[in-house]
Amino acid sequence: MISKRLETIANYCPQGAKVADIGSDHALLAAFLLTSGTASYVIAGELNEGPFQAAKKQIDNLQLHQRATVRKGDGLAVLAPQEVDVICIAGMGGQLIASILEAGKDKLDGVSRLILQPNVGADTVRRWLIHNGWQLVAETIMEEDQIIYEILVAEPGDPLVPYTGQDRTVEELIRIGPFLWREHSAALRKKWQAEQQKLQYVAKQLQQSSREEAKLRLDEVNRELQWIEEVVQCLQ
Ligand code: SAM
Repeated sequence: MISKRLETIANYCPQGAKVADIGSDHALLAAFLLTSGTASYVIAGELNEGPFQAAKKQIDNLQLHQRATVRKGDGLAVLAPQEVDVICIAGMGGQLIASILEAGKDKLDGVSRLILQPNVGADTVRRWLIHNGWQLVAETIMEEDQIIYEILVAEPGDPLVPYTGQDRTVEELIRIGPFLWREHSAALRKKWQAEQQKLQYVAKQLQQSSREEAKLRLDEVNRELQWIEEVVQCLQ
């Protein structure tokens, strides 16, 4: 059984696409994309030996070698130019996802869709997409096993389109997610309530300190808290 998170990612893959799953781990997504009949071909990329071996075993066990290859290497370095239509990078921090895309920019020619699932730091990924000519075309926020996940889908295009015509600045929408803000889901509210609680705890700790830096930091944290409180209010 595949997780709801990976199934949601798979649902964003166009039928018949050639897909690279970078940071494939046990190749669960790669295998699902083939067994569900979604992808025509999958390249599973893995940096580390353990997960690389696990991915190979998975593809072997399911006898998928004719439509899948498992490659060991860093990020998009495992790909040849124009080899895939879709790139999935899931289950890593936003910073790492952005750095993989940045380092592998030359492999993005001919790619028609990116499906990205940052565990944290989705704003870093949105910022990278904006700076590199990728337009968000969909976003999902979902909860599984009490963890909130964000999935970002982008295609080559005008990056600012989804950020216009809303009651929030581009900067705010980079943090929240322009599609997620339109949707106002319960999962989005839960994410920002959790951020609020974390920051309230930080503020409490800072209030107990008499150091000058703590006071300055507390001002910053309070400003941030004010913004989050307002966002959470709007999501009620
Ligand atoms: N993508 C799977 C998922 O979403 O369930 C696995 C996520 S797992 C937490 C992250 C995987 O990415 C690990 O197996 C790790 O070895 C791999 N990884 C980390 N940095 C990488 C890189 N630069 N290139 C390729 N794989 C990487």
